[in-house]
Amino acid sequence: MWNLVKIKKDRDFAKSEYDRLSLENTQIKLSNLDLEKSALTTIALYDITKEICRSLDEDKVFASFREQINKYIRVGDCKLLREEPKGAQYKDYLVFPLSIDKMTTRYLLASQIRGEDKDKFHILTQQFILGIKRAHFYQKVQELAITDSLTASYSRRYLLDRFKEEIKRCEKLKYNFAFLMVDIDHFKDYNDRYGHLVGDAILKEVARTIKENIRQIDLVGRYGGEEFSVILTETDKAGARFAAERIRQAIAQKEIKVYDETLKVTISIGISIFAQNGQDAQSIIDTADQALYQAKQTGRNKVCIYSLPR
Ligand code: GH3
Ligand code: MG
Ligand code: MG
Repeated sequence: MWNLVKIKKDRDFAKSEYDRLSLENTQIKLSNLDLEKSALTTIALYDITKEICRSLDEDKVFASFREQINKYIRVGDCKLLREEPKGAQYKDYLVFPLSIDKMTTRYLLASQIRGEDKDKFHILTQQFILGIKRAHFYQKVQELAITDSLTASYSRRYLLDRFKEEIKRCEKLKYNFAFLMVDIDHFKDYNDRYGHLVGDAILKEVARTIKENIRQIDLVGRYGGEEFSVILTETDKAGARFAAERIRQAIAQKEIKVYDETLKVTISIGISIFAQNGQDAQSIIDTADQALYQAKQTGRNKVCIYSLPR
């Protein structure tokens, strides 16, 4: 009798222990699922941040954010605007103002986000802001810098400041100077064919060759993507043509070795002479640009000096 009672007690105890362990097991499974979920979110965040931070160009940061976000949540359309969105065409979008600095706000727009994805979208947007801020401040630093980091020539801003000083100096002293606009021919094709890294190496080599072929008192700056400007101080039309031809030929003859490739490039040059072809910065830039256009139109790998249209 006593034994039966004990067996029943043991059985009850075993059952309650079994129930307790089953419950614990279910709880562990659930918290495992939670952990797995948050690990996935963390990995997604890490991946997205890594991709976004690959670039320092605002548009590229956005393009990579848009590409990445679609891997994790479903978004109908996603846009980045520099102005506050107004008008009926934006009525189906959620709008997230992103403050980059005191003066700058961008607007991230997204449509058709499901309710359960909204929190995730918010978290991912935080990573996007970081990427965009990074690109924005990099751009600011570039603008303030005296030299262009890729080509080690002067930055556009610095060159234009010096250009304006040169105009004032030459006005006073009644000197000439020449302004050259240099543009690599068919540069886009090189980028498309060999990739941007090779394109960058070509830019470096072109800048170096220009510097090798001007005097110490002359200035060379990166005017834009694949355009350089050169200021040849106290130089007249004949002197400018001579120097520009020397630069053009030096580049045309150069074998540029990049990685496994040996490449050749050519440049076109447009020249404007102060004060003959323009008396202020804008008109000198415009006339040099027109001369460059003429060089491009008449075959490239060429030097043209601005002449008044007949
Ligand atoms: P054209 O003879 O008429 O000047 O033709 P182009 O292909 O040189 O002219 P276009 O203006 O169409 O192309 C310029 C290219 O320069 C497009 C752009 O991708 C490239 N570019 C601008 N900045 C950089 C840069 O910093 N690095 C590289 N690799 N490419 C750049
Ligand atoms: Mg160009
Ligand atoms: Mg070009």
